Amino acid sequence: MKQSYFDIIVVGAGMFGSAAAKYLRKNGANVALIGPDEPISQQIASSQQSFGAYYDQARITRRLGWDEVWAATDSRSLNRFRDIEAESGIPFFYEKGSLVLMAKTIANRTQSILRQCEANLIPVKTMTAKSIEDHWPCLKVPKLSGGVEGLFEDRMAGYLNPRKLVSAQISLFESTGGILLRCSVKKVKKDKSSDLWQLHISEDGKSNEIYAKKILIAAGAFINHNALLPNGYHLALHAFTEPNLLFEVEQENLESFKKMPTTITVDPEDTGNENMSIYLLPPIEYPDGKWYARIGPGMQPIVEELHTLEKMRQWYIEQKITKQQRDFLMKMQQMLMPTLKPVSIREACCIIEKTPSHHPYIGPLNEDSSLNVVVGGNGHGARGSDEIGRLAANVILENTWDFPIVQSHFAPILQTDQINKKKMQCKPPFGLC
Ligand SMILES: Cc1cc2nc3c(=O)[nH]c(=O)nc-3n(C[C@H](O)[C@H](O)[C@H](O)COP(=O)(O)OP(=O)(O)OC[C@H]3O[C@@H](n4cnc5c(N)ncnc54)[C@H](O)[C@@H]3O)c2cc1C
Repeated sequence: MKQSYFDIIVVGAGMFGSAAAKYLRKNGANVALIGPDEPISQQIASSQQSFGAYYDQARITRRLGWDEVWAATDSRSLNRFRDIEAESGIPFFYEKGSLVLMAKTIANRTQSILRQCEANLIPVKTMTAKSIEDHWPCLKVPKLSGGVEGLFEDRMAGYLNPRKLVSAQISLFESTGGILLRCSVKKVKKDKSSDLWQLHISEDGKSNEIYAKKILIAAGAFINHNALLPNGYHLALHAFTEPNLLFEVEQENLESFKKMPTTITVDPEDTGNENMSIYLLPPIEYPDGKWYARIGPGMQPIVEELHTLEKMRQWYIEQKITKQQRDFLMKMQQMLMPTLKPVSIREACCIIEKTPSHHPYIGPLNEDSSLNVVVGGNGHGARGSDEIGRLAANVILENTWDFPIVQSHFAPILQTDQINKKKMQCKPPFGLC
C-alpha cells in the first residue's frame, strides 16, 4: 500500500459507500474507499467478515410510494441513472415497469399513493385484476382482502442491477483519481498523537494502518460489528434475514414470463402469518447463464432478526433458508405464477437492516463531525442510493443541505438513547414505503 493518509476514508464499498465516495471525489477531496469485493468462492466467503446486500442481479426500482423521504431519494437518483450509465459506460437500469397490487380494503393508502404521484408528476395507471391478467397472462393476481387495485408505473420504473450500479459508481470514483482498497477494516480508533482516525485493515493477509481526518462508515447491516464504530457506539439498527427463492424458467416459456413487470403485493394490515405481501422479479439472467424469476417476502413475520456477527456471516455463507420461509415462498410462486414449471429452484440469503425511523441515518456521531455514518436502507435503499450517497458526501464536506426533508430527520440514533423507547422498537412485519 503506497499511501497511508487520506482526507476522507469511506468504509464499505457497497451501494451507499460507492455513491458517497464518487461525490466526495467529485468535490475534489483526497478519498479512499475501502471494502471487500463480492466473494467468488465458498472458501473465500467462509473467511470473509462482512457481506453486501447488493450481491444480486436485480433490485426493484420505482418512484411510486407514500413516503416523502423515499419518494425524494428515489426520484432524484432515478433521474440520474441514465447519466451514470453514460458516464461509466456500464448499463444497469431496466425499464420493465413496476406493478403494485393493493388490497382494496386499504383504499386510503392507494389514494394517498395516487395523490403523491400526482403531486410529483409520476404517471401511474390504475388497473383491475382482470386487465392485469389480460395484459400479462403469466401473472395471476392473488386474492387480497376486498379485491385488488393495481397501480402500474411503466416509465422510469422496473429494476436496477445492483452489482452493476456499484461497479459504475466505483468506476466513476476511480476515473477521477479515487483510491479503492479491496480489504476489510478490522478496527477504527482515534490516534491521540496525530488526532487522526486510525483504521486497522487487512490486505493480502497482512495487517496495515491507514489514517484520515474524517471517516464515513457505510458498512450496511454489518455497521455495529467488526469494531467499526469506536467508543462503544452502537446504532439503533436491526438486521433481519431476507430469504428469497429463485425459480429457473424453462426456455420455451421464457419470452412470455420476461414480459412481466416487477410486482409487489400489499396486504391489508401488512401483518399476520397469512399475509400475502411479497415482491416478484420477472426472469432475469444470472451469472450462471440461467434465467430466474425471484420472490421475496414483503413484510412477513417469517423474517428473523440476527443479533450476532456470527449469525449474520453464517446466513450469508450457508445460503440456506428455513423450511417455513421456503414453504411460504413456494406457495407464493404457485399463486402468482401457476403456469411456471421451474427447471430448478435456488435459495438465496441476504440481510436487510431496519432503523426505528424507517429511514437512513446520514450524519456525524461525534462533536467535531469527523466520524460519520450512512446506513439504513431499510430493505429499499438500492434505488435511492445515489442520492443517499450524495447527501452523506455533502454532510462530510459541510455543504448546504439541499434536500426537501430536514437534515435532523436523518441524525443517527444510538441504541443507548433512552428517549422515545417505543419508537425505537423495530420488529417485523414492516410496512411498504
Ligand atoms: C433480498 C433483498 C432485496 C432487496 N430489494 C430491494 C429492492 O427491490 N429495491 C431497493 O431499492 N432495495 C432493495 N434492497 C435493499 C438494498 O439492497 C440495500 O438497501 C442496499 O444495498 C444498502 O446499501 P448499503 O451500502 O447500506 O449496504 P451494502 O450494499 O450491503 O454495502 C455495505 C458494504 O460494506 C461492506 N463492509 C461491511 N463491513 C465492512 C468492514 N469491516 N470493512 C470494509 N467493508 C465493510 C460490506 O462488505 C458491503 O460491501 C434489497 C435487499 C435485499 C437483501
